[in-house]
Amino acid sequence: MTARVCIVGAGPVGVVAAIACAGKGMQVALFEAEREIDRSPRAATTHPSTLEMLAELGLLEEFQSVGLVARYFQFWDGVTKTLVAEFDHQLLRDETAYPFVVQTEQHKLSELGLRRLAAMPNVELRLGTSVTDVVQDSRGARVTTEGAERHVFDYVIGCDGGRSTVRKCLDVEFEGYTWPERFLVLTTLFDFQTALGCCPRSYISDPEEWTNLFKVTGDDLKGRWRAVFPARENETDDEAFSEGSVRRRLRKVCEEHPMELVAHRNIYRVHQRVAKSFRKGRVFLAGDAAHVNNPVGGLGLNCGIHDAMELADTLHRVTIGQASEELLDRYERRRRPINKAAPLGRRSPPPQAIPHAHFADRKRAPGTGNRLNCWSTVFAAAGARAGLQPCAPWHRAGAVPAPAFWSPADSGVPRRPLRPPPSSFFGR
Ligand SMILES: Cc1cc2nc3c(=O)[nH]c(=O)nc-3n(C[C@H](O)[C@H](O)[C@H](O)COP(=O)(O)OP(=O)(O)OC[C@H]3O[C@@H](n4cnc5c(N)ncnc54)[C@H](O)[C@@H]3O)c2cc1C
Repeated sequence: MTARVCIVGAGPVGVVAAIACAGKGMQVALFEAEREIDRSPRAATTHPSTLEMLAELGLLEEFQSVGLVARYFQFWDGVTKTLVAEFDHQLLRDETAYPFVVQTEQHKLSELGLRRLAAMPNVELRLGTSVTDVVQDSRGARVTTEGAERHVFDYVIGCDGGRSTVRKCLDVEFEGYTWPERFLVLTTLFDFQTALGCCPRSYISDPEEWTNLFKVTGDDLKGRWRAVFPARENETDDEAFSEGSVRRRLRKVCEEHPMELVAHRNIYRVHQRVAKSFRKGRVFLAGDAAHVNNPVGGLGLNCGIHDAMELADTLHRVTIGQASEELLDRYERRRRPINKAAPLGRRSPPPQAIPHAHFADRKRAPGTGNRLNCWSTVFAAAGARAGLQPCAPWHRAGAVPAPAFWSPADSGVPRRPLRPPPSSFFGR
């Protein structure tokens, strides 16, 4: 039988899920509420394990051609403006064909994916069509759209983002919390690499206000930077976007920054939430619909693409009769613990610290999530080489008890003697 699969949401996760399912011969319908893909600055960093997946789908060449390759990432001390540690993805060269990250804005993945889907005969694309209801019985899952159209499918994948309608229709709780502090993203044409000597992914630690600098290519491929700052807890959008506040923040990073180079100002809430269940019967959740976390470190979209690939493979095996329906439970068994570990497993550290927690947890995750092991390998190897103890700053700040949060013994990362971190990096 040819399985009929409905994918709700043409964000990057929905588009990858659609390509993966259609590539395996399923009949796919993709419903997207908006007529055009959202171009606001969100994900850009695509990790090696995800690049392997994009290569498997035949998307990597085009994806990489509209982004930039970043071999290194760095940690800087914002007060002394000194480099503290540099991490080199080349350490992974024996583990992956892609020992680097690619910085490509997520809307480019959605857009190039939609072009691929438009050329696939077994795909129906419905842009500007919002899904309003999903119900199911033993014969199928019925999807209702805004215009009260009804369609029946064998399976539905909700890739409709953090506010997922599909998740709400399933009555699945989105467990977790929202940080009081928001993220301010300032996009600028100023070249931080030339001015500061930093690399295209640079994390700047500062006891008062941290900053992350990421280079992306932009739609014109000429290059621009995103500078990410924490907004103060009670800071309004108007205050955060004001000339004075933007100038103060950017000039703290680099005094010569000219204001006329600021291109965009965006602000985002930061959540740590995981759906209580990733599957109910014929309906599955993937990407932000299933889990949202602090964007620093670039795991939200990467983990979402891993969800999509795992789910497409699982559905394929079941629908061609290679496996029984019991295999469908494996999706939740594998993906939920991986995505739950850092946000909810224990009280999380402050936003900037999350990626490290994630990396530690990846090491012991089963299934395809193990592909993310390369990250803990990078951190373990490069961090130890640099003499850094990953949990130290949050642990010291009293955010989490160190043994519960980072334990070399239970993380699976080889135990190594770690020197105390340089005090300039971890605050004074
Ligand atoms: C500032 C920032 C930086 C980030 N950086 C990174 C990074 O570097 N790397 C990384 O991995 N992650 C990063 N993330 C996280 C990443 O952006 C998200 O994880 C990613 O967008 C999830 O993709 P998605 O397709 O699941 O959801 P979305 O991108 O939210 O897409 C959901 C889609 O569903 C559509 N939709 C919603 N409701 C319906 C409906 N009822 N019917 C039909 N369609 C519907 C929406 O219109 C939308 O197109 C960042 C996030 C932020 C805010």
